[in-house]
Amino acid sequence: MKKLLKLSLLATLATTAISAQAEEKFITIGTGGQTGVYYVVGQSICQLVNRDTAKTQVKCNAPSTGGSVANLNSIAAKQMDMGIAQSDWQFHAYNGSSSFEGKKNDKLRAIFSIHPEPFTVMARTDAKIASFDDLKGKRVNVGDPGSGTRATMNVILNAKGWTDKEFKVASELKPSEMASVMCDNNLDAITYNVGHPNGALKEAAASCDAHLVPVTGEAIDKLVAENSYYAKATIPGGLYKGTDNPVESFGVYATLVTSTDVEADKVYAVVKAVFDNFDRFKRLHPAFENLKAEDMVKNALSAPLHEGAERYYKEKGWIK
Ligand code: GLU
Repeated sequence: MKKLLKLSLLATLATTAISAQAEEKFITIGTGGQTGVYYVVGQSICQLVNRDTAKTQVKCNAPSTGGSVANLNSIAAKQMDMGIAQSDWQFHAYNGSSSFEGKKNDKLRAIFSIHPEPFTVMARTDAKIASFDDLKGKRVNVGDPGSGTRATMNVILNAKGWTDKEFKVASELKPSEMASVMCDNNLDAITYNVGHPNGALKEAAASCDAHLVPVTGEAIDKLVAENSYYAKATIPGGLYKGTDNPVESFGVYATLVTSTDVEADKVYAVVKAVFDNFDRFKRLHPAFENLKAEDMVKNALSAPLHEGAERYYKEKGWIK
């Protein structure tokens, strides 16, 4: 009898172990190139989530990807649970507008917004580029296909009545490649819709004579006036060698998005890991320094909040 009891106890223990293992949940967050800020955002979130894996059973990883548009497509295709995306492309993916026409994803859900991302142009000093208009006839990296940079560059070109043909060369190199190609004098300028400071621009500014170029003018004013997801933005001076003064541009916000296909518990685990450890999170990158939780849960989000995020924000009293 005793033996039987013992055996059945063992059997129960074994099943519990198996089901605990089976309950382990994996989260994949799409980021961007390794020399950008999205990659650091994803790694930082996963670092915090994975500290609690023993309690939550949630395991997180954040691979490098092509950026916003690639992440939004992967979420729609259920290849990734979450992704970081520029607020303009979050808007278009949810509404089926711009390059997402015919690809409307009404399952797209917002989690929170993160750092501002001014559209950024850096040029070799010897290329004598003082404004966006001076890029005409030059060799320009217009952004990696799948990146938000490339997609927003297209919006700027359209607004100005330009196409890639205006450039002598329009390359689509990855952010991790573009700095060395420019500094080898195979490009005059690189573009990046990105948080500051970031690795790619630091590398370029440190390796050759280069400086940031303002992105201003009538076409930009019109884009900002007509689209709520764009705003004027200033890149502080002193972040990159060769650029001591602030530079004017316009930009968007980085946001974390997911899908209604992703369970509420997973999203809740991510949100809780970030906001329960918010001071630690903010120390992980200088672009996070000025983040305020109350703004992140409301600003720059066009898709509805995911229910897992909403649950945590209500508990905190940040939303009603
Ligand atoms: N905003 C860029 C994009 O969507 C990525 C910036 C980054 O990796 O930090 O492609």
